[in-house]
Amino acid sequence: MRGVSHQKWWGWGVEGVAFSHHDKPNMAPFVRERVGIDLDAPGSPPPTFEDIDVPEPRIGADLSATLTSAVGEDHLVTDDLDRVVHTYGKGLPDLVRIRAGDLPRIPDVVVYPGNEDEVRAVVDAAVEADAVLIPFGGGSNISGSLTPPAREDRVVVSLDLGRLNRVLEIDEASGLARIQAGVLGPDMEEQLGARGWTMGHQPDSFRHSTLGGWIATRSSGMQSDKYGDIADIARGMRVVLPGKVVALRPLPSTSTGPSVREMILGSEGRLGVITEAWVAVHRLPENRDIIAYLYPSWASAIAAMQEIAGSDAAPTVTRVSDANETAFSFSTQKVKKGASGKVQSVLFDVLERRGWDMDAVCLSYVGYEGDSAKVRAEKAVVGKIVRKHGGIKLGRGPGALYDQKKFDTPYIRDFLLDIGGLADVSETAAPWSRLMDLYFGTLRAAQEAFDSLGVQGFVMCHLSHSYHSGACLYFTFAFAPGVDGTEEQLERYWVVKKAIQQSFIDLGATLSHHHGVGTDHAHWLEEDISPAGTDLMVSLLRGVDPGRNLNPGTLL
Ligand code: FAD
Repeated sequence: MRGVSHQKWWGWGVEGVAFSHHDKPNMAPFVRERVGIDLDAPGSPPPTFEDIDVPEPRIGADLSATLTSAVGEDHLVTDDLDRVVHTYGKGLPDLVRIRAGDLPRIPDVVVYPGNEDEVRAVVDAAVEADAVLIPFGGGSNISGSLTPPAREDRVVVSLDLGRLNRVLEIDEASGLARIQAGVLGPDMEEQLGARGWTMGHQPDSFRHSTLGGWIATRSSGMQSDKYGDIADIARGMRVVLPGKVVALRPLPSTSTGPSVREMILGSEGRLGVITEAWVAVHRLPENRDIIAYLYPSWASAIAAMQEIAGSDAAPTVTRVSDANETAFSFSTQKVKKGASGKVQSVLFDVLERRGWDMDAVCLSYVGYEGDSAKVRAEKAVVGKIVRKHGGIKLGRGPGALYDQKKFDTPYIRDFLLDIGGLADVSETAAPWSRLMDLYFGTLRAAQEAFDSLGVQGFVMCHLSHSYHSGACLYFTFAFAPGVDGTEEQLERYWVVKKAIQQSFIDLGATLSHHHGVGTDHAHWLEEDISPAGTDLMVSLLRGVDPGRNLNPGTLL
């Protein structure tokens, strides 16, 4: 639809941008040796749109007329491309299926309401007609939370919030902004930034995800250590339910019973459509710096991260990669010309002479924001902790590079799929006391899964998002499945993904820290929140949506 931008129908991000390893000379040898994938192998490009068979829309004249009168003719779309764009998110199974043209059930119609009244009219019309309604933000979810159930007989309506994209007001005295739910990250920050404010929420999917999607999936951004997860940031909201609207004012705190705000957070379209939210915003910082550090081992790095989390420093970002992710990261460096290339190799020689095992080193980034005195003081506190745990400061250069590159990295999955490689992520959170067991147990579980498939496989991890009592561990895995068919590839993918997810649950961690449940993680929900907890959730969903019209299949 004109005026609303979408990601490419078959993969991540925008058309014309792709990952390439040709300016990274160490990457292909690394991936060949450690992952078992040849980056220079001839690839098969993604299909063209004409190659795929798109099912006809099944919407009847009555519902079509009601929806048209709700949003206007120009904002009701049944063309093939639009419906396909709204069928999948961007999880690995989504990408494998869409590239194979696998479209068992797709939305019959996409509507683009322009205000809350239109959203109400669409929700009521869909429920009245016993249709399925699926709210759509940026389509970036990675948990299978947008796809209609394969055997859904009812009409499927995708409700795209892309026209609801404005910052409506800022309460400067309170540091709160009222923002429409369909706004994409960059558009929102541009509007806030023009008035000197920022929300500070920066998921890696920032460019292609929306405020409503963040709330509906309980998202977390890389600067969560300072700004909080979206669950902290979103203070009030309006949510269209069948026949009514939940209106929650932006209160700093409240003791009015079980939190309805928390019921909306993570509701994944199962309770209704979030149309706007009051969110915490902050004055744009005077200085912003990301500094890189290097630790001799994972154990020393994690100990330092925990100490930083409990210290007087209040960094924006605390992140450390394990040895595998560090080695991968170094392999993706561009050729370092002149002095900086030399400095790195001299430094590594020195560290080796000091007894460091360079195969075990862990790269860390810590972010700082604020006035110069605050940043200086926080760097001093962190520097002392780093040194206490045997680490060293690498400096600003690698930190700045990480900050620039972070939004390009997701394109790599499509490139790997071109050459037959599967790569995906699983993330979790656990108390500090369980983090090391969780880490080693999950690596073991992934390796056993690779062994059971007879494939080489690679798994790497980083810690990000630190809290008082624990942190998030984020695992990335990749392997060449060695089979061609969609189902065969996905079967192998699930062997690894399930092993990792199950190890989270078995080792005292959650099924997901910030990607949500969707359909991909639903299997572990009961183990995560207990059968009685699931009963509570079922009662809530049934109470609001007895006909299972709102995004059925996802969550529960
Ligand atoms: P969508 O994908 O469109 O929808 C997700 C779910 O929310 C669906 O169930 C949908 O029905 C529902 N929904 C969307 N909008 C509304 C609304 N207005 N009202 C009610 N329900 C709604 N997540 C993070 O938290 N942090 C990261 O760093 C991060 N990095 C990522 C990197 C990559 C490469 C990818 C592919 C994903 C990443 N994600 C990350 C996951 C994803 O971006 C988040 O889940 C994001 O919050 C989804 O937002 P969206 O607008 O794209 O929602």
